[in-house]
Amino acid sequence: MFQRLSGWRRAARLSVLLLLAGVASAGALFVLRPGSLPALVQRHLPARSPERAAGSAGNSAADPLAAAAASGNRAGFPAEADPAGSEPPVIADLPGEVPGRPMVRVCLTDPAMEQVILAAAGPVTVRPVGSPEVLGRFPSLNRAGCTTTRTGLKIGTRSFAASQLELIPARSPDLWVGRHQYRGTIRLYRQTSNRVLAVNVLPLEDYIASVINGEMPAAFDQPAREAQAIVARTYVLYQLMRPGRQQRLFDVYASTRSQHYQGTQYETSGGRKLAGETPRSRQITAATAGVVCTWNNRLFCTYYSAVCGGQTAAGNGVFSDAAPPVASVPCEWCSKAERYRWSVEVPRAVFRERLSGRTSLNHSSPLTAIRQAAATVPGRPPDFEIHAGRKSARINASSVRRMLSGYSLHSSRFELSLETDDVRVTGRGHGHGVGLCQWGAAGMAGAGHSCTEIISHYYPGAQLLRLLPPAVSVSASAR
Ligand SMILES: [Zn+2]
Repeated sequence: MFQRLSGWRRAARLSVLLLLAGVASAGALFVLRPGSLPALVQRHLPARSPERAAGSAGNSAADPLAAAAASGNRAGFPAEADPAGSEPPVIADLPGEVPGRPMVRVCLTDPAMEQVILAAAGPVTVRPVGSPEVLGRFPSLNRAGCTTTRTGLKIGTRSFAASQLELIPARSPDLWVGRHQYRGTIRLYRQTSNRVLAVNVLPLEDYIASVINGEMPAAFDQPAREAQAIVARTYVLYQLMRPGRQQRLFDVYASTRSQHYQGTQYETSGGRKLAGETPRSRQITAATAGVVCTWNNRLFCTYYSAVCGGQTAAGNGVFSDAAPPVASVPCEWCSKAERYRWSVEVPRAVFRERLSGRTSLNHSSPLTAIRQAAATVPGRPPDFEIHAGRKSARINASSVRRMLSGYSLHSSRFELSLETDDVRVTGRGHGHGVGLCQWGAAGMAGAGHSCTEIISHYYPGAQLLRLLPPAVSVSASAR
């Protein structure tokens, strides 16, 4: 979760315009219909004790939304949540996709590779991306390399005169890319650098079932993992809604650059096979299916990080598209995390040398003092005044962290102190510290808090909604 993204305001504003203009021609996938919505926090997901949650997860009879949908309310919202004069939110879809079942495109190769290794136990059909034409079929793939040719792509010994291929397995999951097996299809793109970009295309909820495990240990209590599912779903849907989707080849990376996604199973370097998704993660996905965080009736980018260290960072100090609920809040719940507090010693000489290329300080002058200055923007990591000889220079904590790469500074929230031989870095937390604190969510769940309480704590003012497929007429009129 370290990606910086462009203006959420623009995306949100665009979503309204797209809806009014007829959605279909643009890149927005989900659109919440503008208009006033009732407060829905803690209404769509009932507050639960851990015991009750364990017994009720996946039980649609206990779900008020499922009950509302069964009673004929297509949008799934209880009648009392829909006061006269306001309409429930609906979902509009891109042409070519099943309504309410968006597909996520995950980049598996960052950066693109000279060769991508493919395997499948059963038949695989090869098509150009976005075309029904069949270019070829493999009865199976036995660690076949995909490379570029002068005009196209080659899989094993077979060449294809196309620079974009889609591999569709007869059954899913079957396809392996490198050491990971994935649901859905695999797209292969020939890059101008003669490298291959691999993208996994799969249904949103299948993606979430794997991300829960990639992002959060299975040992964390269920409410924390439910919160993780909702936050991860909102994050990826926000990415899908960003303007210009049709011009991009993928929506998210498979790494923590976006969200950690390992597919259905994967092989360790020692040859051990581990589960990427599990019955438990699928159960949590089903229990929270379609539930997202909203603010002012719109999706927002639900940034999250591993350990905040006692206080989450203000989103607008770190990300340009941070919405108001991504605010700084106290967190007393992550103190058991290994990186709640940490300390690193950097030799003075190393610190001095790395500083010289980044500030105006004379390389030959020894360090004499380091003082913390107020952050130039509230909520942003602090600045430091570094004194060397008669000169001083100001440098931001984020720059210091980049400057000291290799020294395991786990976050930009730290203090610097000058010691006899070293500069001591005393820090807190792991990651950017913005939004939901994953270890804090585990702490809250362990103390009996519900999924909705966790989300309300880390995204104050956010509302939870369950997005359901629109009625056919709505979908048709949107196109
Ligand atoms: Zn925390």
